[in-house]
Amino acid sequence: MPDRSRPSRRAGRASGLRLNGGEGASLERLRERFLTAGISAEISAEISAETSESGGVRDPIRESWMRSRRWAVAADSPEPLLAASDLDVPVARAAEPVLCQLADRLARQAVSAIVTDANGLVLMRCTGDAAFERRLDRVSLLPGFSYAERFVGTNGIGTALEEHRPAHVFGQEHYAESLGEFACAGVPLRDPVTGQTLGLFDLTCPRRDAGPLLAVMAGMVANQIQDVLLLAVPGHDRELISLREADAAELRRLLMAERQQRELAETMHRVVVETTRAVTPPEILGRVMTAAAAQLPCEAAWALAREPCGTLRVVAVHGQVDTRAVGAMIVPLPDSPLLLAFHGGGMIGPHRRLPEVLPGQRYPVGSWLAVPALCRPAPTVVVLIASRAAGGYNPRQARLAYAVLGQAAAACENAYLFEETQRLADSDPLTGLANRRHFFEQADALVRGHLHAARSLAAFMIDIDHFKQVNDGHGHAVGDAVLAEVARRVQGTLGPQDIVGRIGGEEFAAVLGCPAATAGVLAERLRQAIGASPVATADGPLPVTVSVGVAMLNPDDSGLGDLLIRADVALYQAKRSGRDRVATAQP
Ligand code: GH3
Ligand code: MG
Ligand code: MG
Repeated sequence: MPDRSRPSRRAGRASGLRLNGGEGASLERLRERFLTAGISAEISAEISAETSESGGVRDPIRESWMRSRRWAVAADSPEPLLAASDLDVPVARAAEPVLCQLADRLARQAVSAIVTDANGLVLMRCTGDAAFERRLDRVSLLPGFSYAERFVGTNGIGTALEEHRPAHVFGQEHYAESLGEFACAGVPLRDPVTGQTLGLFDLTCPRRDAGPLLAVMAGMVANQIQDVLLLAVPGHDRELISLREADAAELRRLLMAERQQRELAETMHRVVVETTRAVTPPEILGRVMTAAAAQLPCEAAWALAREPCGTLRVVAVHGQVDTRAVGAMIVPLPDSPLLLAFHGGGMIGPHRRLPEVLPGQRYPVGSWLAVPALCRPAPTVVVLIASRAAGGYNPRQARLAYAVLGQAAAACENAYLFEETQRLADSDPLTGLANRRHFFEQADALVRGHLHAARSLAAFMIDIDHFKQVNDGHGHAVGDAVLAEVARRVQGTLGPQDIVGRIGGEEFAAVLGCPAATAGVLAERLRQAIGASPVATADGPLPVTVSVGVAMLNPDDSGLGDLLIRADVALYQAKRSGRDRVATAQP
């Protein structure tokens, strides 16, 4: 027989606990104390003694408080996790007709029925009373929020899922203050064939002492949902359900193993397909983690690339990570276990401590796994996933992570190395600006677009004044430092849309989509920015100036060449008339 999810005797036993008057207050004090005291054997023994004396905190709740402490769930403002997940899953479809019927019966009653998935993610909710519905909105009991205990501490949903059996939690038993006014009863919904937890049905109401009664009702509704799930079981699997328990147990085990194997194969297939659809490392990581999400839940993920100098660069992030972390660098500590993943150590984690704080990290790391690109003797990219919970990855998930993250890391590595090669081929190594070839490619395309659309475009030719004297007087190395600084000042003055390049020894060029008046102002600002302060060099501060030639694109220009010739003539005029100035070409 399938598990019909009747409320357990254990859950029913404590129904004598009263929450009004003295005992309720004592429970609240105990809870406060528990939450503010550090966890130690002494304190937990003391709490055990006190709670058994007062006949108070039930075992499941005390264990649940312990778990919440272990997971460092905030006591005052626990944060339900909002997931961008698919809410249309089989358990929600099975619950829908039952909830529709229930909605009629709950009309005008302050009771809410909630269905979640196996991770406590609220899939659907129906509430009889509008005012009560608004109160539940305030504590985010909304579709899309996860009520796993590890995010919101003790609650009916998380406790029942964590213990794989019906549970009711009421009043001050809730770990979070904001849920203290409710009673909640959760009953796991199971796969009728394998017994695996698929989700949960919960009843919540604003009577703090209604838990035991709600538990009975929730059990009855859960049975109805199980019946709908049973109807969806294919014929050959249904025979399994009617076998004697002893015979069925072995068959169920085999079926579970076969199903897990199939799910693994399907996940890997999805992962491989997704890696071929994406081009950049962030796209690859996002698609892979989403494809594997059902099998490998992940709160936060990073793809890290090892640079030749040994630092690690964040090339992609996913989940609860600030996206601005992409591009950030980490200097790994010499004994960091993370480095082992880059040095052929295979998958690293989850039981070692991670000494580094990762860029964009929002929560302390409880568990982590780092997997290098598959089949590379010296991998450049490692993908790291992290969760807040300690011991958050079981052996099955770790095996899956090895395959999935290894594949993601390999795809990210290809994309990253391709981008790097492209960048090296296009940029000038001394200044980091576009090199001559890349500048002409980009500028040519921009000029064509502007000619076609008849929009105004300006070109600047920028040349350092008397630069030969810098080399002659201070040496080539100082000259190089001056060139790099001038390039930085040029780029700092122009915008991200403008195209800038180093087109000769101490000559730079830029093209900007703007009218003549703006071009004149910008060229002058550029000249001033470069001459404003001397450049710091190994030989001390050196004053530097530039001359700038400006030309505007004419409608009858044949292309970039015509425009640059006029800008060059203007530059020559600026030099001739004394340098450190801007000259503009005749239209
Ligand atoms: P003007 O004001 O007329 O532009 O005078 P100038 O001295 O800047 O012009 P000139 O063309 O005579 O000299 C340019 C110098 O730039 C010559 C060359 O040694 C130097 N140069 C070119 N490329 C590099 C480089 O990559 N590094 C260094 N340090 N110097 C360079
Ligand atoms: Mg010069
Ligand atoms: Mg020159």
